[in-house]
Amino acid sequence: MSGTARPNRIVAAARRPPRRRPRGVDGLVALAGVCLGAVVAQWWVTKPSLGGGAATVALAAGQLAGLLGAYLAMLGLLLAARVPVLESTLGLDRLLRLHAKLGPWTLCTMVIHALTVTLAYAALAETGALAQFWSIVTTYEWVPLAAVGLSLMLVAGVASWWRIRRRLRYESWWALHLSMYGGIALAVPHQIANGAIFVGYPVVQWLWLGLYALVLGALVAFRFGLPIVRTVRYRPRVADVVTEAPGVVSVIIEGAFHRLPLAGGQFAHWRFLARGLWWQAHPYSISGVLDGGRLRVTVRAVGDHSRALNRLRPGTRVLMEGPYGAFTASARQPGRPVALIAAGVGITPIRALLEDLPPDAAPAVLYRAHDHDDLIFQDELGPAVSGRGGTLHCLVGDRGEQPITASRLASLVPDIAGRTVYVCGPPGFAAVVLGAAKDLGIPRHRIHVEAFRLHPADASPVRREEVSACDGR
Ligand SMILES: Cc1cc2nc3c(=O)[nH]c(=O)nc-3n(C[C@H](O)[C@H](O)[C@H](O)COP(=O)(O)OP(=O)(O)OC[C@H]3O[C@@H](n4cnc5c(N)ncnc54)[C@H](O)[C@@H]3O)c2cc1C
Repeated sequence: MSGTARPNRIVAAARRPPRRRPRGVDGLVALAGVCLGAVVAQWWVTKPSLGGGAATVALAAGQLAGLLGAYLAMLGLLLAARVPVLESTLGLDRLLRLHAKLGPWTLCTMVIHALTVTLAYAALAETGALAQFWSIVTTYEWVPLAAVGLSLMLVAGVASWWRIRRRLRYESWWALHLSMYGGIALAVPHQIANGAIFVGYPVVQWLWLGLYALVLGALVAFRFGLPIVRTVRYRPRVADVVTEAPGVVSVIIEGAFHRLPLAGGQFAHWRFLARGLWWQAHPYSISGVLDGGRLRVTVRAVGDHSRALNRLRPGTRVLMEGPYGAFTASARQPGRPVALIAAGVGITPIRALLEDLPPDAAPAVLYRAHDHDDLIFQDELGPAVSGRGGTLHCLVGDRGEQPITASRLASLVPDIAGRTVYVCGPPGFAAVVLGAAKDLGIPRHRIHVEAFRLHPADASPVRREEVSACDGR
C-alpha cells in the first residue's frame, strides 16, 4: 500500500479560465442591498409613532434591531453556503471570515431586540421588566420558541468566541455551532406572527419567507447537493498512499476527474469512508494532478484524522466537497513575476499552483523546513521552478537560523517588492511574512495567504504559540 517511490508526472491543474470579479457577485451584493433597503423602508412605514415618548422610540428601535438581526443571520448563512460564484471569487476562507465577523453583530442586534422590546412594553404597561418578559413569553404566539432559538444562538456564539473555541476540539465546536441553524429556524415563526412589518401584510410575509427559502435552498444545494452530485459523478477512491517524509503522506485519489473544475492551489473537504474516519471531513489541499487525472493530497500527521491516513487502503471510497479556494494562479496580475513562500506542509498548494504558472512567470520559491528530512517534493520542485525561469531557495533550520525578515526576503529575492506574493504555512508564519512584506512596501492586495485555517478562531489575533509554530514543520 505505502511506498516511497514518486511514480507519477505532475500535470497542469487548471481547468477553468482565470476569473476576476464576476458580475454574479456584484448582482448578489446589489440584491442584498436592495432587500435591506426594502426591510428598513417597510419598518419605517409600520413602526410606532416616534412622538409617543421614550418607550415608543425604544419599541421602534427594538423592532428594527430584530429585523436587522434576522437579516444578518440570513446573510451569515449565505456566506457559509459555498455559493459557487461567491466561493470562486472570494475563496471559502475569506467567506468564512466574513461569516465569523457577522456573527457577533447578529447576536448583539438580536439581544438588543429582546431587551428593548421587553423594556419598552414594560414602560408602556407600567410593570416591571421581569413581569413583562413573562407576559410576552406566555402571551405572544411563537415567542417561547424564539426564546429557545436565541438561547441556542448564544450557545453557538459563545462557542465560537476564539478564547473558548481554541479550548474545544474541532468536532465539539462544530457540533455546538450547528445549534445556530436550529436557533435561526426557531425564531422565524415569531417574526411572521408578531412582527409589526408583517402582520396584515401577506405580500411582505411571503417575500420574507422567500428570502429564508432562498438561503435554505442555497445551503441544501451547495453544501449537500453539489458534493453528492460530484461524488457520484467522479466516483473518487483511494488509489495509493505514498510516504513523502517522516509523518507526511500523499494520498492518491483516482476517479473520473477529467470534468472537475479545478485550479492549482485549491483544496477540498475529504471524507474517507473507512472505519473511524467516515464521520469527519477534513480540508486538504490538492498538491498535484497526476497522470490519468488522479488527484494527490499531501498531509502532515498532526492529530487523529491526519495520523490515520497512512492506514487507508486502496479502493476506499471518498466523498469530496469542493474544490474550493482562491489561492490560485488567477490571483496574480498578468505579466507580474511571483514569489511563493511556504513553510513545512504549506508547500502542498504551492506545488500545484506552480503548474498553472506560465513558462515566463519566473517564480521565486522560498521553502522553509525545520530539517532536510521535512523537505518534500524536492525532485518535482526543482524542474517546475527552473522550467519557468525561477529560483528555488530551501531554507532549512529553525527560526533563529532562518529568520523571515524584510532584509532576508530582499536579499533572497531582490525584486520581491514588485512581485505578486503567495504565502502558505501556519497562521503565525503567515503573520511574520505579512509583517516583512509590509516593511518592504508590498501592497496587501498583492499578497495571497493560505493559512490552513478556516474557522472563527482563525480570525483571532495571532497567538504566541502560533508565531512559534513558524519553525516550518
Ligand atoms: C484550506 C485548508 C487546506 C489545508 N491543506 C492541508 C494540506 O494540504 N496538508 C496538510 O497536512 N494539512 C492541511 N490543512 C490542515 C488540515 O486540515 C488539518 O491539519 C487537519 O484537519 C487536522 O485534523 P486532525 O484530526 O488530524 O487534527 P486535530 O488535532 O483534530 O486538529 C488540528 C487543527 O486542525 C483544524 N481542523 C481539525 N479538523 C478540521 C476540520 N474538519 N475542518 C477544518 N479544520 C479542522 C483545527 O484548527 C484544529 O485545531 C489544511 C487546512 C485548511 C483549512
